[in-house]
Amino acid sequence: MVIILKSTASQETRKEFIESMQARGLSVQVNEGSHSIVLGILGDTSALDLATLRANDAVEDVKRISEPYKAANRRFHPLDTHIEIKGRTIGEGFFSVIAGPCSVESEAQLSEVAEAVKKSGAGFLRGGAYKPRTSPYSFQGLETDGIQLLLKAKKLTGLPIVTEIMSENQLDEFADVDIIQVGARNMQNFRLLKELGHCKKPILLKRGLANTLEEFLMSAEYIMAGGNENVILCERGIRTFETELRNNLDISAIPMLKKMSHLPVIIDPSHAAGISWMVAPLAKAAIAGGADGLMIEVHNNPKAALCDGAQSLNPVEFDTMMADVKRRVEFEGKKLN
Ligand code: PEP
Ligand code: MN
Repeated sequence: MVIILKSTASQETRKEFIESMQARGLSVQVNEGSHSIVLGILGDTSALDLATLRANDAVEDVKRISEPYKAANRRFHPLDTHIEIKGRTIGEGFFSVIAGPCSVESEAQLSEVAEAVKKSGAGFLRGGAYKPRTSPYSFQGLETDGIQLLLKAKKLTGLPIVTEIMSENQLDEFADVDIIQVGARNMQNFRLLKELGHCKKPILLKRGLANTLEEFLMSAEYIMAGGNENVILCERGIRTFETELRNNLDISAIPMLKKMSHLPVIIDPSHAAGISWMVAPLAKAAIAGGADGLMIEVHNNPKAALCDGAQSLNPVEFDTMMADVKRRVEFEGKKLN
């Protein structure tokens, strides 16, 4: 980190500032020019807050040389991370499809969808038991019963299950869940992220609706700093000025996240598009863009879905899309699992 001190700062103020950096265990190189004093700060500066430093009377400007995320940073972990789950691999030349309904609605609905997505080649079953809805009057999910139905569907199909957690208090209930999802709205629920850092379960972390890639990786860092390195990044569309789409799928995020980080990246075209006919073309773009997998919403009767029916594929549409996905994944030299 480089800190430029104001030329008007008194000797005493400069000395105090330098000592405050040294007291944090950092070494300070002082370069005195005719108009400014440039400090080179060496050591782990990740705990330093740029805004607080800039607000200091002695400081003219601050620049970070290295990124504030360390564990998630490719610079320190050049090789791709891959995550093993029940005999399947996410990342490292494998391509994973997570499919299932937005919400678990009933045993019949979930088992029908689970069997169908498995038959079409999905490697993981998704389904929301706890739903983060914009309106408190909308269906909130079957909660504990939903988790039980997911576990039943896992037994029935052998597919590992992915479901969203809303609070750290639910961790016991998620003991047999294979991948814990942190939804877009909870990407910056730091207490939840910290607690997830203390378990070893794979975490599917969704990018917030209006978060930068650096903020996204800082959230991954919260989980990893606690000792859980099994983080899967999921881009699911961000808010822009466009009104025709539910969200804009940020395809650029795939190569950029791959450059910034070693973590696997999967794409959720369902929440990005908000419209079912757009899911397949966006999925193609994701495969070509280098994604490690897809998360797709599938419902046995989308018109009657209690949540996100408009963006859900029916099993036949999903099967057609999967035939194309398989060809494209093979073309990329990856293996579907
Ligand atoms: C979901 O996956 O059902 C969901 C709520 O997604 P997001 O957090 O991306 O909105
Ligand atoms: Mn949904």
